[in-house]
Amino acid sequence: MQKTAWHQLTVQEVFEALQTDETIGLTEEEAEKRSKQSGLNVLPEPKKEPAILRFLKHFNDVLIYVLMGAAVITFLLGHYIDTSVIILVIVINATIGFFQESKAEKALEGIREMLSLKATVVRNGTRTAIRSAELVSGDIVVLSAGDKVPADIRIFEAVNLNVEESSLTGESESIEKSSRALLKDTVLADRWNMLYAGTSISSGSGIGVVVEIGNNTELGKINASISEVDQLQTPLLRQISEFGKVISAIILISAAMMFFIGYIFHDYGTAELLLSIIGLTVAAIPEGLPAVLSIILAIGVQRMAGENAIVRSLPSVETLGAVSVICSDKTGTLTKNEMTVTSILMRDRDFEVTGTGYAPEGAISLNQKEVRLTEFPLLKRFLVCVKTVNEADLRYNKQGHRVISGDATEGCLITLAEKADERVGKLESQSKIPFDSSYKYMASLVEMEGQKVIFVKGAPEQIFKMANLETANHQGAIWQKKIQEHAKKGERLIAAAAKPVDFSVKSIDHSDMESGFEIIGLAGIIDPPREEVIDSIRQCKEAGIRVKMITGDHKDTAVAIGAKMGIGSDGLVVEGKDLDRMSKEELSETALKYDIFARTSPDNKFHLVQALQAEGHICAMTGDGVNDAPALKRADIGVAMGIKGTEVTKEAADMVLVDDNFNTIVKAVKEGRRVYDNLKKTILFILPTNVAEGFLIFVSILFGTVMPLTPVQILWVNMISAVTISMAIAFEKLEPGAMKRPPRRPDTKLLSRYYLFRIAFVSAVICGGILAMLEEAKDMNYNAAILHTMALQALVISQLLYLFNCRSEKGFAFDREFFSNKAAFLVSGILIAVQLAVTYVPFMNILLGTAPLALEYWMWPLAIGLIVFVMVELEKWVARKFFMAKS
Ligand code: ADP
Ligand code: MG
Repeated sequence: MQKTAWHQLTVQEVFEALQTDETIGLTEEEAEKRSKQSGLNVLPEPKKEPAILRFLKHFNDVLIYVLMGAAVITFLLGHYIDTSVIILVIVINATIGFFQESKAEKALEGIREMLSLKATVVRNGTRTAIRSAELVSGDIVVLSAGDKVPADIRIFEAVNLNVEESSLTGESESIEKSSRALLKDTVLADRWNMLYAGTSISSGSGIGVVVEIGNNTELGKINASISEVDQLQTPLLRQISEFGKVISAIILISAAMMFFIGYIFHDYGTAELLLSIIGLTVAAIPEGLPAVLSIILAIGVQRMAGENAIVRSLPSVETLGAVSVICSDKTGTLTKNEMTVTSILMRDRDFEVTGTGYAPEGAISLNQKEVRLTEFPLLKRFLVCVKTVNEADLRYNKQGHRVISGDATEGCLITLAEKADERVGKLESQSKIPFDSSYKYMASLVEMEGQKVIFVKGAPEQIFKMANLETANHQGAIWQKKIQEHAKKGERLIAAAAKPVDFSVKSIDHSDMESGFEIIGLAGIIDPPREEVIDSIRQCKEAGIRVKMITGDHKDTAVAIGAKMGIGSDGLVVEGKDLDRMSKEELSETALKYDIFARTSPDNKFHLVQALQAEGHICAMTGDGVNDAPALKRADIGVAMGIKGTEVTKEAADMVLVDDNFNTIVKAVKEGRRVYDNLKKTILFILPTNVAEGFLIFVSILFGTVMPLTPVQILWVNMISAVTISMAIAFEKLEPGAMKRPPRRPDTKLLSRYYLFRIAFVSAVICGGILAMLEEAKDMNYNAAILHTMALQALVISQLLYLFNCRSEKGFAFDREFFSNKAAFLVSGILIAVQLAVTYVPFMNILLGTAPLALEYWMWPLAIGLIVFVMVELEKWVARKFFMAKS
């Protein structure tokens, strides 16, 4: 079927073809009907790698190769039982890895669902936000800077509409769009009157009608759904796999050595010796470790989502724990974004405004007397201006509360106009310049009282430039004084101005805004700080994390709010225009020295991140507008706002705040520290078992004694008990001191010297205990199965008690936090039950080569476990007492 060439039709023809209406849009019923017919506006899932391939990938690992080598050797020797056991280890390992990876992917997918795209449509004549998936052809869509284009759209209204189409055309320059009809054979990249799904609006705004959805969009046709690369590998996991390579090398070398020793000094047969060495290999490899670590990370992602922080990839969980600077927006993140105009400043008089919130309750008064607009025409002009140059919408919700859709700064100006004693109308704009935080103003071309006027509102500095008001002259000085007075109270200031233009002017752009404006007045707006954030900022300070405020607001406003929140000191503040002039070195110095940055542009954010990173900081940076995307991408943790933020920033971010609240960042950092600590504790917990097992076998080969454990039993300890117990660590709470110490340095080694010492120490104690037990038992004529069972129990009991050592890296095990982790006790219960089954259930005896133990045989394993526990606590005490002060 020949597809309609939508770009070639006139706007009217498009409306007719799709049976829709420019202003009313579709009715809900019609939209529903069409949605049933055409299906959802989604692209098919990108083809995944077949499951079997993903499964096989888990065999591609050096440690697995070592195990495979072992399997081949046992097979050649005819020891098929051992071969099957080792193969079982390999397969179980790959299976756990595979399922764990799928689970982590599912978790991330679920989280992506929470971030599903929204679109603003006109239905039944009102603007509403719906999920992009629900769009149908004929829907009228309103787009502004930062939106992702949700479907293929024919534009019928465009204001400086610039679109970034690189995902479709590969061209990274933005293209300006308009509503003209085009010739049929224009190529995709030149179809100015069309917007294509998957592209994004870089500036300006526009309205259009959906012409194609889902698979029928250009994007659907090339079947390139926007690829989201999930990084499942994290710096820590990478270190672990490096570490795995080192371990393999060590194992191979010691295996060769063992073979040599055994061959020369003992009269082992080659086959028997090889078998023992294979036992050693299986023992020394921490088979369960990678799986446990990724489970801990995935749990971290889910818990963060529960705390309103949506983390988009696993590595970010880890990075969050290392954050050393948080650069935050002011408006909405540190403050409530509940704006109220409290004063209107005119050249010769100032008005006060009463009432709070968006409800139109309150009045505009002069010296405590309510004013009448008829007496103050300039005030009326001011209100008309701020109401006209305005895109916000106030409505009553079902509970009867006044709610805002759009920008809070604009919403409060509508409320202001409603507080006047007579109705202030909104004029129709013939041309607009939308607000952007890089130039900080917004303008409309209107007709008023038979004259054409450009109305503008924006940051006072910007507007004053348009009015040629330099501070040097008398008038400018009067205004400056007023501004400072209010900014110092923490008020946000918006200036309004107007300029008459010739009747022939049809549209406006930045060149019309350079001069000739007349200031009408200023509005002073308060935006109260979020109380709960003050405490979070204090916590950050204790945790060695610096908090910097980066705002587009006036420097006095920023300093005043900063002082309330505990950011910055001595009124130290630097402005964006100063940053622009600085050299790299100056910028680095300034970025470190100052905590408040005012009148900044998105470019400044980018350069600040760069400067801080150059100084070795791990930087979290918030942002909401399109232009913030580069800074967020550059930051170690780019943080987008879930409510205020644009789709483009959300896509560029590593983390999205559901509630736009600074507190949520701090919560995520805390969770990041907890996860990282627990990852480290897990390693500290698991490795000693492997070293001890390896060493036991090493010694028994060296001295030619019986093997203390069979390969199956070793597998049991490494895969079942170690993994089960370490799950308890995943749920370990944040240590009380964790937010009192400085952020970890990102380049710190996984295994510090202290860790290596601890691992060696614990394995020596376990190993020594078991060797002593075996020595003792030699005289008593126990059979092999009983000896094996005792050794197995000694290992597992030591593991279980050592878990309680590991719950706190250096602190005393029985402190106030002892009962804080229920999982630890749950796991202990399960493990005790399982170990009893291993010992007393006949079926398990056969499977694992164990035998029932009489009561007195338990003494040794229990004693070994207790000794491990006590020794480690003693060691921690010594470390605290003598070495802590230094570290
Ligand atoms: P921030 O988000 O850090 O408060 P913005 O870039 O949003 O900074 O705003 C900077 C300045 O631009 C404000 O101080 C205000 O004077 C002006 N401004 C903000 N929003 C608007 C708007 N919607 N229309 C006109 N001017 C605005
Ligand atoms: Mg803002």
